[in-house]
Amino acid sequence: MSTESASEVREVIIVGSGPAGLTAAIYAGRANLHPLVIEGEITSNTDQPGGQLMSTTDVENYPGFVDGIMGPDLMATFRAQAARFGAEFLTRRATKVDFSEQPFRVWVDDTEYQSKAIIISTGARSLMLGLESEQRLLGYGVSTCATCDGFFHRGGNIAVVGGGDTAVEEATFLTKFADSVTIIHRRKELRASKVMQDRAFANPKIHFVWDSVVTEVLGDNKVEGLRVRNLLTEEESTFQASGLFVAIGHAPTTDLFVGQLDMDDNGYLITHDGTRTNIEGVFASGDVQDHVYRQAVTAAGSGCMAAIDAERWLEAGAHA
Ligand code: NAP
Repeated sequence: MSTESASEVREVIIVGSGPAGLTAAIYAGRANLHPLVIEGEITSNTDQPGGQLMSTTDVENYPGFVDGIMGPDLMATFRAQAARFGAEFLTRRATKVDFSEQPFRVWVDDTEYQSKAIIISTGARSLMLGLESEQRLLGYGVSTCATCDGFFHRGGNIAVVGGGDTAVEEATFLTKFADSVTIIHRRKELRASKVMQDRAFANPKIHFVWDSVVTEVLGDNKVEGLRVRNLLTEEESTFQASGLFVAIGHAPTTDLFVGQLDMDDNGYLITHDGTRTNIEGVFASGDVQDHVYRQAVTAAGSGCMAAIDAERWLEAGAHA
């Protein structure tokens, strides 16, 4: 295969364009590093430009927006701010990387880009049930983040799908707002840790539907209910709910870096001393290295850290 090379060796390439990548781009731009942001593709489900906030409606917990802001509007603002400080955008997906020597190389299909420093902000995605109705109502009652959207369900009747720590933690958190929270799980046993299970079983607002899966989310413009199938009896029933929280796990977008960057058992990049990875000059920020907080503001904060770490590393001439 022939490879075309973009001849310039850049100071920094940022892979990914959610809150982490774009904040890194703002800071790197203002440090005169002329970052190239490989922002993902509009056609891609998993690494679309703007990241997970592109499928979010109201964002009410991002500081600075008293009345909240729509997720896509927030990301458009981030992007315009990065462009204002000289960030360049490539609306494509990175398809291959080689971090084995300087300059580092990143490919977009057959075109090779070279850079002294790299910031990886490819994020993570929530695993979804894979229903058409779930996708259609995402942001309109279907959510993957109780911290973000629980507030919209005061007094409601909410369903949570999943049986792990996330599902139980989300359900417990949601009882602050909802009158009733029902965990729908495909087996009769939770996978969550014992202490969290005990807490959920003791909570009078939490109910369980066992051995069951959601087969359809009902509602035209917002969630009004669910169709649920019992896997033992094959019986289908309708469940009234104002919201569905899907909590069946997350997957970081790290396939590209397998064999080059250290990852934990779940595929998240391992960082140390701020945003450093195991390869000097390669930094990671946002959800790709954070399975704990997963918030836009924490991702943005770590994108800022990555840009500062990269800038200082370049300044020290460590790449030479
Ligand atoms: P997880 O442990 O992988 O659990 C995923 C749950 O979703 C499982 O109960 C699984 O069912 C169910 N599930 C998976 N695919 C499904 C599908 N297509 N349809 C219906 N149900 C499906 O994921 P997690 O809960 O996000 O936790 C991830 C890791 O983070 C774990 O190590 C967890 O301990 C940790 N965590 C810790 C805390 C805490 O300590 N505070 C909080 C959150 C997460 P099965 O059980 O049948 O497989």
